[in-house]
Amino acid sequence: MSEIQTYKFYAGNRWHEPSSEKYFESEDPSIGKVWARVPDCNEKDINLAVSSAKHAYYDGPYGKMHPAERGRTLTRIGDIIAKNAERIGQIETKDNGKLPKNITPSLTSWQTESFYYYAGMCDKYEGRLIPSEVPNMHNYLKWEPFGVVALILPWNSPIGTLIWKLAPAIAAGNTVVIKPSERASCSTLELMKILEEADLPEGLINVVTGFGPTTGAPLIEHQDVRMISFTGGTKGGSAASLSASKNVKPIIMELGGKSPQIIFKDADLTLSVNGVVSGIFPVSGHSCISGSRILVHKDIKDKFTHNLLEVVKKAKVGHPNDVATQIGPIANKEQYEFILSKIEAAEKRGLKLLIDGEDEDEVIKIANDTIYGLAAGIWTKDTNKAIRLADKIEAGTVYINNYFNASTQSPVGGFKQSGYGRENGWEGMQSYMQTKSTWLATNPSQPDPF
Ligand code: NAD
Repeated sequence: MSEIQTYKFYAGNRWHEPSSEKYFESEDPSIGKVWARVPDCNEKDINLAVSSAKHAYYDGPYGKMHPAERGRTLTRIGDIIAKNAERIGQIETKDNGKLPKNITPSLTSWQTESFYYYAGMCDKYEGRLIPSEVPNMHNYLKWEPFGVVALILPWNSPIGTLIWKLAPAIAAGNTVVIKPSERASCSTLELMKILEEADLPEGLINVVTGFGPTTGAPLIEHQDVRMISFTGGTKGGSAASLSASKNVKPIIMELGGKSPQIIFKDADLTLSVNGVVSGIFPVSGHSCISGSRILVHKDIKDKFTHNLLEVVKKAKVGHPNDVATQIGPIANKEQYEFILSKIEAAEKRGLKLLIDGEDEDEVIKIANDTIYGLAAGIWTKDTNKAIRLADKIEAGTVYINNYFNASTQSPVGGFKQSGYGRENGWEGMQSYMQTKSTWLATNPSQPDPF
């Protein structure tokens, strides 16, 4: 029997036991066995992590670092993550059942690319001189970091979502406190062990673990946390934004979705079937942008459904470490039971969603008839129609004759209750910065106001 691993939390470049001496357990979903114990951090632990980040920002090396040197720090982090991709992948697989092949290759390619992309941006975020109409004034605008930023993570892709936040947040000059999900904390903690090799400035990256209401909320509400980046569900996001609003703190929200895939009569059948299947099933269907609401034209519905089932039936479900496995386990028991309840409810309602007619307006109405607006897929050979629809769909990302693509350079985020704020690209860096407008009198004169 393998030994149960006990983790500590990370603050000020040191490992700490939780002051409550309490731990919660992580279960390997592919065998249903506990394999790790994770600190249940309370306010004392949060204070330690936030004060370490604050010290690093105001007094420590990171806040004083030249932006170009910040860039070199990011490059080091990217290199070390890429080198240790397999180890990080193995831990995440144990934590949430995600297939190693869905983690490791992206950590050696486009995800670590985030660090190199934002490393290059560190010393290129120039301000500007504003041609103000006020005479004898130099008015200039600078981009500045917030200070201590809290990064709150979900369980479905802890490392992936962490990288999307961490790279721009520290490139912008902030220091961070990370709070991974209580259902998948270990890959983040393991990452910090790996990053010890990077000789990072003390207090730059800190990690507290625990539950949403007892660790996440006090972290958000901590007086020295200046900005929050949250990825999770709509319910958790709504609670987190209430916490942030108590002290009027900015928060960006990357929330869930129920994304439509629209298949027109003229769509290439093989392309659209493969595209729709590939848009639903990766990461056991846990991905936030899974395109699982299928709107298919009635004339091709039978053929499309038949072909889709033929493809789906071929999927190999199994243990994540078996290289033949294409779909691994559901990440945890609660999620497994939640999915079963949805299938049962759908069966009871005899759910069928078919488009009747050619009317583009009708399909837009159905596609947009949801509280979410994260992503959408359009499958057709008619490019003009696809562009017309893409303009009308309420979603932060629209795919035309493809699905699931993402890159460091391209901003992502939601419309409606799928969130606000953007990650990746130029906009991703701006999310972690604020502008400062400075007025410099070139011919100072201030008459007595009274
Ligand atoms: P969740 O909202 O339950 O939890 C997310 C994080 O928020 C966890 O760390 C949790 O501890 C914390 N949290 C919960 N309540 C809180 C509170 N009151 N105050 C502070 N923190 C709190 O979400 P989850 O179930 O872990 O994640 C899955 C969801 O994330 C899915 O809906 C998925 O679609 C979404 N997601 C979105 C994106 C995106 O980019 N839009 C990416 C990945 C996942």
